[in-house]
Amino acid sequence: MISMSAVARPVRAEASPDALARFIDRHPRLFVLTGAGCSTASGIPDYRDAAGEWKRRQPITYQDFVTHDRSRQRYWARSLAGFRRLRTARPNDAHHALAALERRGHVAGLVTQNVDGLHQAAGSQEVIDLHGRIDTVRCLACGRRSSREHLQVELERRNPAFAALEAVEAPDGDADLDGVPFDQFDIPACDQCHGMLKPDVVFFGEGVPPERVQTAMATIEVSDGMLVIGSSLMVYSGYRFVKAMAEAGKPIAAVNLGRTRADDLLTLKITDECAAALRVIHCS
Ligand SMILES: [Zn+2]
Repeated sequence: MISMSAVARPVRAEASPDALARFIDRHPRLFVLTGAGCSTASGIPDYRDAAGEWKRRQPITYQDFVTHDRSRQRYWARSLAGFRRLRTARPNDAHHALAALERRGHVAGLVTQNVDGLHQAAGSQEVIDLHGRIDTVRCLACGRRSSREHLQVELERRNPAFAALEAVEAPDGDADLDGVPFDQFDIPACDQCHGMLKPDVVFFGEGVPPERVQTAMATIEVSDGMLVIGSSLMVYSGYRFVKAMAEAGKPIAAVNLGRTRADDLLTLKITDECAAALRVIHCS
């Protein structure tokens, strides 16, 4: 009879919170990558379910936004409602734990796929907003950046019929609104050059600015381990850092409720809510 211990097992096993605490202690220069799962406890919904599949229809693409008036009108009409929740969101215990980890000198850098600014709100200093920030708007013609809050006031002033509508929000400030005549939505242009305004976030079909990727890759070089928090890593923009870390032979721990695209590259995997798993940071 073959004993169970003789059966080959995967290198990575489901780990306990204590294992995460030990991982953090052993790697004083962590490269942290965070995704939507880090912000769900702040009331910002996730795009994907535990199996990594879309929970709702796929978000707008860059090409669609810049090419079609109707798509742009639909985006801003939904965003008018979606932004209301985003701007009142507050950091949760996961953001606070990561800020505390940085204060203890444990974080070489934090790259977030989220656009909500909640890491900075919690006090994290070394943050790379890989996909930009939803509280900022950029003119596609002159490049000028301006406040989304300011645009919100202008959008509501021009579109009073839409301002009262409630909607179901998505993580990028987009939202679902049905049965609404989007072609009547009035979008302001850039104050300076009358160019097209776009949220200063990376849309699907749009590349991450190369300098952000270079800064993140440079951080990987000085890091001794990686912590992935609340990302399924389905999007290449985040997955590439896990790949680079693995290629450098450095260990990777991940906290995520579902599977990740990099499960086979992980040293340690914790299947849990981000805030719950990161409680060990305050205890250690
Ligand atoms: Zn402009």
